[in-house]
Amino acid sequence: MTIIDGKKISEDILNEISLEVKQRTNKGYKTPHLAAILVGNDGPSQTYVNSKIKACEKVDFKSSLFSYDSNISEEKLIDEIELINNNDDIDGFIVQLPLPNSINQENILNSVNPNKDVDGFHPINYGKMTIGIDSFIPATPYGILELFKRCKISLDGKKCLVIGRSQIVGRPISILLSQSNEFCNATVTLAHSRTIDLDKLALDSDVIISAIGRPEFLKAEMVKEGAIIIDVGISRVKDDSSKKGYKIVGDVDFKNVSKKASYITPVPGGVGPMTIAMLLRNTLVACRKND
Ligand code: NAP
Repeated sequence: MTIIDGKKISEDILNEISLEVKQRTNKGYKTPHLAAILVGNDGPSQTYVNSKIKACEKVDFKSSLFSYDSNISEEKLIDEIELINNNDDIDGFIVQLPLPNSINQENILNSVNPNKDVDGFHPINYGKMTIGIDSFIPATPYGILELFKRCKISLDGKKCLVIGRSQIVGRPISILLSQSNEFCNATVTLAHSRTIDLDKLALDSDVIISAIGRPEFLKAEMVKEGAIIIDVGISRVKDDSSKKGYKIVGDVDFKNVSKKASYITPVPGGVGPMTIAMLLRNTLVACRKND
C-alpha cells in the first residue's frame, strides 16, 4: 500500500512555480497576482483564504484580500468584482464559497471575467472543461489529476466511483476522468445521496474518489482489495486530546481502508494541499497570458 503524499507533491509544484516566478522576474516580466474575495466571517472560509494567501507568499506571488461584511448586497459585490475584473495588475481571483444565503452564487460566479477565473467556476470555463478545450480546471479536481499523473497511476479502463456530485469537486472530476486523456479513460460512475446500493457499487470499483463531507463514511468492507482511494472530504470532529478541541478527518476510515488499498490519500496531507498548488498554477497560467 502506498500513501500518496499530497503535501510533498504540492511542495514540488510550489517549487516549480517559484522557480518560474524568479525566471520571470529576472527577465522583467510581471509578478503573478492572485486576489481573493471573502464575504462574512465563516471560520473555515477564513482559514482557506489565509492558506491561499500564505501559499502566494511562498512562491513570491502578489496577493490581495478583499473582505466584505456578510450583509453586502449582491449588486454591490458585483460592482466590486467588476473593479477587480478591470484591475490590470490582478491576473486571477477567487470568490471564496459558500456565500451568504442572501447572495445568488450563480450571479456572482457569472460576473467573474473568465480570463481571471482561476477557480474555473465560470460557465465558459466549465463548459470548455466539459468538452475538453484548454481552460482553467477547478483546483481540487485538477489536483487529483495531478496526483494520478505524478504517481504514474493510470485509470485507463478502470471502474471509478466518484461519491458526491458537487459543482466544485465530484461532477468535474467525474467528467475529467472519463475523458480520453493520459491517466484518465476511466469508466466513471457518479454517486450521490440518492444512489441505491452504494456499498455494492463501491465494492465493485477499482478507484473510489469520495467528496461528500461525512467523517469516515467509507469503511473497509465497502472497498475491494487493491483499490485506489482518493479522499477529498474534510470534516472537523470533536477531539478532547487536541488543543483546538477538534481534529480534521476525511470521508474514509483511513486506518482500516488503508489495509486493503493499493494507493490512498491521507487527510490532512492528501488532496487539500494539492488544491492550493493548482490554484497557484492556474494563476501563473493567467499571468503568462498577460505577457
Ligand atoms: P457538497 O456540496 O458538500 O455536496 C456533498 C455531496 O455529497 C452531494 O452531492 C451529496 O449528494 C453527496 N452526499 C452526501 N451524503 C452522501 C451519502 N451518504 N452518500 C452519497 N452521497 C452523499 O460537496 P463538496 O463541496 O464537494 O464537499 C465535499 C467534501 O469535500 C467536504 O468535506 C468539503 O469540505 C471537502 N472539500 C475538500 C476540498 C479539498 O481541497 N480537499 C475541496 C473542496 C471540498 P446530493 O447531491 O444528493 O445532496
